[in-house]
Amino acid sequence: MFKRRPTRQICVGDDRVGRILIGGDAPISVQTMTAGYTHDVDACVAEINRLAAAGADIVRVAVPQRKDTEALHHILPQVRVPIVADVHFHFERALEAVEAGVHKIRLNPGNISDRDQVNAVIDACRERSIPIRVGVNEGSIVERRDKQKRLQELGRFFADRRQGHLLALMITKLEEYLDIFYERDFHDICISAKLMDAALVCEIYQEISKRFDHPLHLGVTHAGPKETGAIRSIAALSGLLCQGIGDTLRISYANDPIYEVEDGLELLWSLSLRERKGVDLIACPTCGRIQVDLFTLVQDVREKLAAEIEIPMKVAVMGCVVNGPGEAEGADVAVFAGDRRGIIYVQGQRVANVTEEQILDRLLEECRTFQQRVRDGQATLGEKSVEIVPPDPIGELGSGIDKIAAGEVERITQVRIDRGN
Ligand code: SF4
Repeated sequence: MFKRRPTRQICVGDDRVGRILIGGDAPISVQTMTAGYTHDVDACVAEINRLAAAGADIVRVAVPQRKDTEALHHILPQVRVPIVADVHFHFERALEAVEAGVHKIRLNPGNISDRDQVNAVIDACRERSIPIRVGVNEGSIVERRDKQKRLQELGRFFADRRQGHLLALMITKLEEYLDIFYERDFHDICISAKLMDAALVCEIYQEISKRFDHPLHLGVTHAGPKETGAIRSIAALSGLLCQGIGDTLRISYANDPIYEVEDGLELLWSLSLRERKGVDLIACPTCGRIQVDLFTLVQDVREKLAAEIEIPMKVAVMGCVVNGPGEAEGADVAVFAGDRRGIIYVQGQRVANVTEEQILDRLLEECRTFQQRVRDGQATLGEKSVEIVPPDPIGELGSGIDKIAAGEVERITQVRIDRGN
């Protein structure tokens, strides 16, 4: 749907863990980074495997100390996903990580700038056919140790527009750094330029996508807690992806990195940039017509289906039959709630009318059965849409309009909101 900006392609991985292509016409990949210590081998392996199981295509680990790169020798044989070593300050860590067999190196121009050191890393990566991500970052791009130099750099790039000087500085540092790689005739590169301001992230990636044909790693750095970081990240990344910019991405949260993977995948699925795995869950936001505890039901359905359904089945959980059927158009399995009851449909066929307490189990059962029918070739995903009525399920379920008018309906969902506050 969105025309991708053409980029060179790089390859991350090997025969054992598999190869992830980044750039060109390769699917946009989802990355994350472990939160624990790399030198804690067992915990690191467990975390990497958990992230890979959640769908991470590539996992990055920090290697600040020698004991972290030594740990890579024990970690790499135990994981089945390409691993990136994130190197700060000490170029020796990059050489040690390459020696250990890591699949990609990330260098930050703000932290390793010595030309000879960068050349040593380039040569080591070339020898093993390992790509390098050059990642500039607003937090490390501005000179901090030399105040005079800092003032000069910031002043030189000052522009009227908000923080324009920072973008110019980041791009200039990126260009200067990449020249070291070009002089070494090394082009196995991916680049990133992260800030925490979503609008600036859009602006800088638009700019660097015009200047370079290297694949772009998208991300908003230190985006914050999941609750706000999600909005910040999605605002920036979806805008860029819709312009065809971006070849791999990391959503970063101050939270369990499993959410980074889940939300990164959901972003790509939602934009039809990757083929969905598992359930596509639709649910209504509820309104004054609701007469079941829909919020709890939706969370339960989400958790259960995530564990059991592996095909991209569309499932709708709707609060009523007023707008529900139209909004659940195309759902393979759907439930429409009424007055403490739910009617369940499978591809347009009504299969059950159950009490509120029975909705979850019956819906799960229908989803499992439908998955099996698809696998057996007896049903096709998205073949038939939900069509309601006749017969009129409002009459059958009870619309509750009279009860609502009489003030007799318990606002269960609202009560839960109040409690949450
Ligand atoms: S489906 Fe019904 S309950 Fe849910 S938001 Fe729409 S009208 Fe309200």
